[in-house]
This record gives sequence, C-alpha cells and structure tokens, in this order.
Amino acid sequence: MKVFWDERQRAHAPAFFMLRGALLTNFEVEARADALLAACRGAGLGIHAPPDPAPMNAVREVHAQDYLDFLRDGHAAWAAIPGAGPEIVPNSHPAPEMLEDGGRVPPHIMGQAGWYTYDTSAPIGAGTWEAAVASAACAVAAADEAAAGRHAYALCRPPGHHAYPRRAAAHCLINNAAVAAERLRAGGAARVGVLDIDVHHGNGTQHIFWRRDDVRTVSVHGDPAACYPWFVGHAGERGAEAGAGWNLNLPLARGTGDEGWLRAVRTGLRALEGCDALVVSLGLDAHRDEPLGFLGVGDDGFARAGEAVRGLGLPCAVVQEGGYNTEAIGGLLGRFLGGLVG
Ligand SMILES: [Zn+2]
Repeated sequence: MKVFWDERQRAHAPAFFMLRGALLTNFEVEARADALLAACRGAGLGIHAPPDPAPMNAVREVHAQDYLDFLRDGHAAWAAIPGAGPEIVPNSHPAPEMLEDGGRVPPHIMGQAGWYTYDTSAPIGAGTWEAAVASAACAVAAADEAAAGRHAYALCRPPGHHAYPRRAAAHCLINNAAVAAERLRAGGAARVGVLDIDVHHGNGTQHIFWRRDDVRTVSVHGDPAACYPWFVGHAGERGAEAGAGWNLNLPLARGTGDEGWLRAVRTGLRALEGCDALVVSLGLDAHRDEPLGFLGVGDDGFARAGEAVRGLGLPCAVVQEGGYNTEAIGGLLGRFLGGLVG
C-alpha cells in the first residue's frame, strides 16, 4: 500500500484557534504529520510524493473557482490591511437572513474572509494555499491507486471533510475526500462510497453529494446535539432529489466505546455495499484520549474498523482527516491500516 505525502504540506502552520471563548494554540500542527509519517515508516510502507503540479481539474470538480481564487490570493490582500494579524481569521459571517435579502460577496478581503468561511477555525496563512493543494494532490494520488484496485493512504494535512464548495471551516479548506471520490468517478467507478469515521460529522462531504446517487455518503460521528458541527449531522438527513436515501448519518452519544462505534461502522459499510470503490475519511479523533474528543473508542477499535472496511472487499483510498493527540494518532493509524490490509 502506497502512502502519499508532500513536504510542501508543512507550509501550512496555523496559529489561531479559539475554543469555548478561550484563545489556544492551533491543534492542527505539523507534528501530526510527523507522527503519522513515523507510523507509516514503522509499518514498512513507502512514502510517495503526489503528482506535481497537482491535478487541479479534480479540485475544480468540487470547489467553485471564486473560492479557490480566495484561498490562493486572499492572504496577500489580508497582509496589506493596516494592523492585520498574520493569518486570515474572519469575525463576521453572512446570516441566512442576509443571504435571503440578496447578500453577496463583497470586494473587500475582510468581508470575503467571512463569506468564504463559516467559522474562525480555518486560519489562512502565507503557506496555506500551497499546502492545501499538495494535500488534495495526495488524495488524488490515493484515488488513482484505488482506481487501479489497490488500497492507498493519503496523508492529507490540512484535512478536508468540513469544507463546502465555497466555504472553509474547522481546519478544512479543500475537501480532499470529495476530490478523491470525484477522481474515482472520473476513473470509471460507477458508484463510489464515502465512509467518514472522524468524530465530527462530515458535513462538507454530505453537502457536496447531497443530490447525487453516484457517490454514497456515510458518517459515523458524535451527536451534533452536543458536538461540532452542531447544526447538521442528524440521522434524518438522507439526501435529496436523485440522492434521496443516499446519505446516512449515524450520530452516537458522548462516550460511546468500541462496541457501539463498530456497530455503527458496520451499519455504514452495509449501506455502501454495491459501490465500486471506497473513500474512507479517516479521522482518528473518535479515540478516548483525543483533546477535541467526544467518543470513547480504544486503540483496538481502530484495528477492528480497518478489518470491517477490508470486509467490504473494495479498493480503498484512505484520506486523513482529524485526530490531534500527537502521542496517539500514529499508533491508531498503524492499527487501522493493519486491519485494512489484513
Ligand atoms: Zn474531527
């Protein structure tokens, strides 16, 4: 199994992070990548650079061009504002009522920052665009491996599953899992399944494929009644139009452990039977020692989740999402991938 990682992903070094009204150091740090790389090397897996330049057509299948332009050019405009901080951090988002009344994207970078994000947790620095594109390229490379019938792991940092076609949030800028799913579709898979096991609902991925029956989306996550992203992720959200019935959310109560989590993972996998290829949004933050945690999954749970995915018998592009305990995530990745390859 190939692992994809690009050293340019280190160019993203977000600092700002606000939690419960307290300013903290951002959890989405380079050390996460180092822990995951060490685990891959320890498992004897080869680390490969993704295609360069990144296949941007796959990214444009998911994201609007005006949003990509903002990600690429926004920081330079931000840096030119007198008194600006080192990163784009919005503090004003359009309310749904403003949008109803004709609200539109303004020419000023401060307004654009609020328009193209929906929280303050995806700060954009000087190196963010370069890193996000390299991260997406890893997802494309893993999808190409899966299209050829082989499992692969994309070490995506920054992660992606909270990103919408036109909006960043929660550490996510480009939706790498959606990019991988689109790449698999373009590579000939008639139906692609996405299984998201990050502790946080994969709301961006849900939305991107909401009206489609060619990409089936499943998310196993902490109940949004008490967990980010708060507003969506409920069991009743099943998709619309052609996609009606093809999104499945499996929200779990705080503290759910291995058995309850694995039951939901298996339920999700059954809903993906009949697909031709699988993308796994692999968050490692369902673990009990996760600093942003909500569930109580143990180390062994991740090995058993990998085994359950193997049981589906589909080539699998594993895309890294969250997981912020740098002491734990390497071991958890090793266990998941070990279960996947058997
Ligand atoms: Zn997460």
